[in-house]
Amino acid sequence: MFDNLSEKLGGILDRLTGRGSLSEADVDAAMREIRRALLEADVALEVVRSFTEKVREQAVGATVVKSVKPGQMVVKIVNDELIAMLGSDSQAIDLNAVAPVPIMMVGLQGSGKTTTTAKLARRMTQRDKRKVLMASLDVYRPAAMEQLAVLGRDLEIDTLPIVVGQKPQDIARRAMEAGRLGGYDVVLLDTAGRTTLDEDMMSEAAEIKAAANPHEVLLVADSLTGQDAVNLARAFDERVGLTGIVLTRIDGDGRGGAALSMRAVTGKPIKLMGTGEKTDALEDFHPSRIAGRILG
Ligand code: GDP
Repeated sequence: MFDNLSEKLGGILDRLTGRGSLSEADVDAAMREIRRALLEADVALEVVRSFTEKVREQAVGATVVKSVKPGQMVVKIVNDELIAMLGSDSQAIDLNAVAPVPIMMVGLQGSGKTTTTAKLARRMTQRDKRKVLMASLDVYRPAAMEQLAVLGRDLEIDTLPIVVGQKPQDIARRAMEAGRLGGYDVVLLDTAGRTTLDEDMMSEAAEIKAAANPHEVLLVADSLTGQDAVNLARAFDERVGLTGIVLTRIDGDGRGGAALSMRAVTGKPIKLMGTGEKTDALEDFHPSRIAGRILG
């Protein structure tokens, strides 16, 4: 069993209690442990580098006072910086646009898009009293369309009728038209993922975006994703333009490094977290919870 970061930094730095300020050498030793902890938590390497640089700047020369152990002081710097980088305030889904407000969900297959679409529809319907239409744009897997229809029936939320043979962007247009005619407040567009990041998925997502002009484009990403999270988030942001990220499987035993990686490379807020398979398992994002996990 590894000691946690706090104990490790204590072991390195606490002997310096009351000795003026932290030297570069002291901080270097601490940085090695911080870097290791972040990599163990699956934070992408490039993000680890930029993060440790920021912490380093604050830690070198920091005054070591008698009342606070130096290890704890550096842990606090790390924790505060993690929360700052993750985004300190929770961000709501923006529905401030002409109805029906289109919201597009993107991400890899299996990341939790369809489940999250239903969770979001449920929250908007029950809590926010909005009239929501859900549409599956997954023309490759009939089971995916059926999955959304089943969720809609269970939740008593409308889904766009399935028409076989239409292109995803045409389904998106049909969904917006149905949204207008039916007096819906929100149209949720659940797009098709792929097993890996590929050009097909990107060009399709770009076409759907052009057709529906979504007010929000949410990347749904599994919080257990490791180093790949960076490429995924960057690619979607560059090609389609994200407005936010939803992290799923927070209830799993992942260390949450993907959250920091995706937030850091895109600068886009993490808006929501999926905390289970059921449709009520959706929460606002809590940076401190993820920061605590990353620190171990
Ligand atoms: P999609 O292919 O991106 O649409 O993914 P799905 O929505 O079908 O989800 C894939 C699997 O992950 C399903 O078995 C979901 O029940 C499960 N899932 C989705 N979100 C969560 C979550 O937050 N926690 C857990 N434990 N499971 C989830």
